[in-house]
Amino acid sequence: METIAVVGAGTMGAGIAQVAAQAGLEVLLHDSLPEAWPRARAAILRGLERDLAQGRLTPGQPEAILARIHPAARLEDLATAGLAIEAAPEKRELKRELFRQLDRMLAPDAILASNTSSISITELGAATGRPQQCIGMHFMNPVPVMALVEVIRGLATSDATTETVRELARRMGKTPVEVRDFPGFVSNRVLMPLINEAIFCVYEGVATPEAVDEVMRLGMNHPMGPLRLADLIGLDVCLDIIEVLHQGLGEDKYRPCPLLRQMVAAGRLGRKTGQGFYSYERKK
Ligand code: NAD
Repeated sequence: METIAVVGAGTMGAGIAQVAAQAGLEVLLHDSLPEAWPRARAAILRGLERDLAQGRLTPGQPEAILARIHPAARLEDLATAGLAIEAAPEKRELKRELFRQLDRMLAPDAILASNTSSISITELGAATGRPQQCIGMHFMNPVPVMALVEVIRGLATSDATTETVRELARRMGKTPVEVRDFPGFVSNRVLMPLINEAIFCVYEGVATPEAVDEVMRLGMNHPMGPLRLADLIGLDVCLDIIEVLHQGLGEDKYRPCPLLRQMVAAGRLGRKTGQGFYSYERKK
């Protein structure tokens, strides 16, 4: 497979396109918004130039890598791809519709992958006529830096599809780890209860956000405390994923902390709004 498609050219789609092009693949990058391409191109170029400055790339390589990423204005332009990675917003109906359309447009042997953080791969596969060729390829943010791809097998995903995707992840310089399709997969099923419990510690007055984070950094060697990490991910995104765990697994241990709900209701979403458990207002 020498050509892949990436659907959605936001934070994750741009990163996935970059690592695929760095692996020598031709990438067709589609977004529904025309302004997404110049934004993605600028973000990719910044990353490649940083790599050049730090000696990870040689002169000429950034341009050559960028030349392998081709903006595709319409979904129909992706028809020649052997595999598509969907990285559109985390909305169930949007992803189901994209899977339906990609199923109609791509060759019968093409693989449809999703970068979803929490939506069922089995359900996305069921929206197509090729559930055995549907799979999760869950990259971590920032894609060029993080080593993991969580490879998620839906109920119908075949061994051949799984092996092709594992091989592709390795070619992109990542380490694939195979998991089954249950709410939150492994990454968010383990991470989000940790974040939620850290928020409960603040809610119940056990400790301040600074103290909770310091305990986890200095005591457990986490590179970043769970509350600072939650601010980075976005508290709205954290709440959505914890809700998926709570509803999908049906156990009280996944109940979202009321303080998290309150902060989301107040629009304190973390770094992106300037205020979460910490303040990110620029100092005057
Ligand atoms: P984003 O909002 O930065 O990018 C989404 C892009 O999709 C936007 O450019 C938007 O214009 C485009 N889009 C919207 N509707 C579309 C359509 N119908 N067709 C094509 N493009 C469309 O989002 P993101 O942070 O890159 O997240 C994308 C996916 O990756 C989500 O499923 C998310 O859960 C998952 N994810 C995100 C992270 C993260 O930390 N940001 C980490 C892992 C997985």
